[in-house]
Amino acid sequence: MSKNIGFIGLGNIGAPMAENLRKKAGGILVYNRSQEKCAPFAERGAAVAASVAEVAEKSELIFLSLPGPAQADGVVRTLLAHGKARQIIVDTSTVSPKLNRDLAAAAAEKGITYLDMPVSGGPAGAANGKLSLMVGAGEEEFLSLGLKEYTDTIGNKYFFMKTRGGGNAIKLINNFMAFAAQAVNGEAAAMADALGISMDDFYEVTMNSSGNNMILGAKMQKVKSGDLKPGFATDLVVKDLELARQLCQDAAIPNFTLNTALQLYRLAQTKGHGKDDSSSVIATIREAYGR
Ligand code: NAD
Repeated sequence: MSKNIGFIGLGNIGAPMAENLRKKAGGILVYNRSQEKCAPFAERGAAVAASVAEVAEKSELIFLSLPGPAQADGVVRTLLAHGKARQIIVDTSTVSPKLNRDLAAAAAEKGITYLDMPVSGGPAGAANGKLSLMVGAGEEEFLSLGLKEYTDTIGNKYFFMKTRGGGNAIKLINNFMAFAAQAVNGEAAAMADALGISMDDFYEVTMNSSGNNMILGAKMQKVKSGDLKPGFATDLVVKDLELARQLCQDAAIPNFTLNTALQLYRLAQTKGHGKDDSSSVIATIREAYGR
């Protein structure tokens, strides 16, 4: 690995991605808005940048894992202002495809390559280097950029979506499916409560029957134990569903279940679960429907 690597955004999924890159590459330069998230990296020998501009000045390949469009836009504009031609920015943040296209065009004016590569698989998948990678480029371009040896430390399932923003278009569809399913799981759990069916029986039967879905099993332990620690925060679900809703609106695509699911996660936010794990929507629904 010959490129100098920068990594910005050391949150729930960014930190394990950055750690795998650090281990494989030896050196890495990290930056996070709240600096305390850099401390564990410094202890393990990573360099810590004082600003986004410093990352731009010292890195050839820069990975981003930022909460949403506002942060990605701000950080990329700063990187472009301080960067130089032939740099590559790989943005793993979930944002709108339109923002990806705008940032790619602005980067191209400076001879910088910007591409979207949103990920799926959660913090556990990131820690194991087994994320799904939804690449906003064709395979040929991606390979020609020499990125694979780096991204192989992050994920092992590549999906080449051909154009800038293509990664986030499919990512937003995926997250709509996952989080609408989780909202359904919450309403199903509230039905079980009302009908006197225990949570053990609810999970045992539905996970072994046609009601099963991936997020049902993935979140079962958290729901059963009342563990609200975020793998993926409710605030991020609302952000993703709002982005998906905008995509539908822009293309005049009807989508009823997306709006319903969005309102349930908004309800979870009003109950104070914005920073808690997305599965807190299940507790929110069970409490609201409880009798
Ligand atoms: P997070 O909120 O835990 O982490 C975001 C990090 O970015 C924080 O450490 C924050 O301090 C930092 N940050 C915010 N603004 C910044 C700025 N201007 N400059 C530098 N650092 C800044 O979020 P996360 O769960 O790690 O998710 C990051 C991105 O990955 C989001 O777009 C999310 O939708 C996506 N994602 C998350 C998961 C998951 O399971 N957590 C899975 C797939 C995709």
